[in-house]
Amino acid sequence: MPAEWQNLASAASIIIALDLDGTLIPFAPTPQDATLDAQTEALLDTLAGAPGVTLGIISGRPRDLVVDLAARFPNIAFAAEHGVWRFAHGVWESALDPVSQLDEIERALTGLAKRYAGALVERKTCSVCLHWRRVAEPAHHRIAAAAEVIVDEWLETQPSLERLPGVEMLEVRHRAAHKGSALAWLRGHGPAGSRLLAIGDDITDEDMFVSLRDTDVGILVAASPRRTQAGLRLPSIAAVHRFLRWIIDARTARPDQTNPNLHGMPDDVVVARPPRPAAPAQLIVASNRLPAAPTGDRAREVGGLVSALLPALEKTQGVWLGWSGAERDPGLKLRVEPSESFVRAQFDYPLTWRQRFYAGFCNRCLWPLLHGFPRVHYADDEWSCYVDANRGYAKMLMELGSPNAEIWVQDFHLFLVARELRRSGHRGRLGFYLHVPFPALDVIETMPWATELIAALLDFDRIGVQTQRWAENLIATARGLLGSEAEARARSRVRVIPVGIDPDRFASAAQFKGNPNESTSLGLEAMLGGRKLILGVDRLDYSKGIPERLEAYARLLENFPEWRNQVSFVQVSVPTRSDVPEYGELRSRVEALVGRINGAYGEADWVPVRYLYRSYEQETLARLYRQAAVGLVTPLRDGMNLVAKEFVAAQDVEDPGVLLLSKFAGAAEHLTLALLTNPYHPDGLAADLDAALRMPREERITRNSALKAIVWRDTAARWAERFLDELRG
Ligand code: UDP
Repeated sequence: MPAEWQNLASAASIIIALDLDGTLIPFAPTPQDATLDAQTEALLDTLAGAPGVTLGIISGRPRDLVVDLAARFPNIAFAAEHGVWRFAHGVWESALDPVSQLDEIERALTGLAKRYAGALVERKTCSVCLHWRRVAEPAHHRIAAAAEVIVDEWLETQPSLERLPGVEMLEVRHRAAHKGSALAWLRGHGPAGSRLLAIGDDITDEDMFVSLRDTDVGILVAASPRRTQAGLRLPSIAAVHRFLRWIIDARTARPDQTNPNLHGMPDDVVVARPPRPAAPAQLIVASNRLPAAPTGDRAREVGGLVSALLPALEKTQGVWLGWSGAERDPGLKLRVEPSESFVRAQFDYPLTWRQRFYAGFCNRCLWPLLHGFPRVHYADDEWSCYVDANRGYAKMLMELGSPNAEIWVQDFHLFLVARELRRSGHRGRLGFYLHVPFPALDVIETMPWATELIAALLDFDRIGVQTQRWAENLIATARGLLGSEAEARARSRVRVIPVGIDPDRFASAAQFKGNPNESTSLGLEAMLGGRKLILGVDRLDYSKGIPERLEAYARLLENFPEWRNQVSFVQVSVPTRSDVPEYGELRSRVEALVGRINGAYGEADWVPVRYLYRSYEQETLARLYRQAAVGLVTPLRDGMNLVAKEFVAAQDVEDPGVLLLSKFAGAAEHLTLALLTNPYHPDGLAADLDAALRMPREERITRNSALKAIVWRDTAARWAERFLDELRG
């Protein structure tokens, strides 16, 4: 250690980034009261003047509370508001333009805060915070939930902003407004090749630590160990001061001088890492994105995948690895945190990944290809980023668990992970589940890297798919691209295990009458006025066939005019993938069609199509499903389609609505008593819609009860159990 320290302290040039409150000076009741004493001032003066030192103070304080300090130390660079404001060479400048979109969410959160005594909205240049520490405790859950719904919906259309959970608060901020970007700015102020030392105590300082490179050093200031990305820890502010004095001594000592301090000082420093789970992980789940974390005391509504996997993860103290949603260079530093039921392991993407790996290869190549759409975009740089990303996931999986850990990889983002893991010496069982369809060989072979991809996929011990059709396509593709040995390998690995839902949850939510004043009741009864409800609920994705569905609805009104003013079509379209151009085009097309139909057929007292471009909580959806006479689930192609199963679960046994389901959804292979239809054929779909609207009650009951049996058999929990049994068997 001493040699290493000596090395760092005496490097030709060193950049030192220091947090202020809690690192250099103690916290005071308000930041205004936290000031520097003469000793600390002298220390900073000397440190900033030491040879080869570039010194920066990176604070979370608002700029106004740093301005005087910055004026006092012209040799030191300052960043305020986590880096939004920066001061160097006598000038303050803003790294980011004020985020004007925040006005909108500030207004919405202020509206919410007005309903809760003690709630407070705080606006900074690039962020808005809602605090509810002073709100009466029993209402914490409600205000947190309401704020999340408001913010998350709004964020769907704001890719540059993100939501951060906090203790009794929530913050919406610019993605780039973090200390990691301030650190990158400070790095630019030192000579190239400088060593970098970052010291901080706060959770926001972790943004600096995850941005460190291999030759940099991060030091957490904390009296006792805690999870951190910093490699080292100092126990107190006093220890930070001693450490900085030691650096000054080391840098100013003459070569012939023996400095007695040089050996003593680093003893204060202790190793802070590794923040690994206590026991080697038994089951590790990997998916592109980590599911949302529970916030505060409220178990956030979890998706089907999470609740399906919870029992297995809980049993083995399992780990879930995935992307945090943030980006930074170099990224890929694991942050491992226990959560209620499993250990969350997340990391940030390096800067190129969102564009090339996620929006590029995953969403513009694999997604359309696997769904059998012709508009596929093949680009070498995106494929090579996909390979890198899969390698990155494999490397992190190796770091997380023992070589014998059981690993279950989710979906098409991570086809190559088993190959990379095996190359790195992983010995445990490796499972893969494909949530989307698998197309015919004719389609997949158009991809220049298809052979490599399929060969790598066959390195998994088990491959789960939603339907027999996809299984056969996969096996035939293995044969077509790689020969009969690969075919046999595929045959022995592939299993059809359909994904399901938690039907009890939808059934009970559907029956919940709720408070009529609640905003979630949608006021649908008044709008329907006794008309039959036709309902569509989808992400606004071209695979969902929404324009085709609208065309068919127009045909219904044309070919069967008796339905005019007797039905109302509500289409919920959830915003999705707004960074892929095709999705913007789709949105315009759908909106134009809605306008056209309403213009052509609407009457003073009747709007034929209600188009809702937003998302709803599943409890609200359940009630909507139950009110519908027809659930219109007509994707052009879909891996399964959970909306179809949710619709079935939510129906009244005595008077159920009809599920009109596309033949090309995976669900059609299992829900055979749905009314099956061809979404590519508008007249046919219109006729089927007419038949669904007219279906006698007895037939509806027969069909729905048969469908319910399947939905209650193939639940989410059973899906996970079956897959893991197969993986272990
Ligand atoms: N969903 C939701 N809120 C909405 C619309 C949809 O929570 O406003 C949920 C829905 O309940 C379902 C999922 O999103 O569980 C969509 O799953 P599906 O398999 O139908 O399609 P995917 O979006 O996965 O392609």
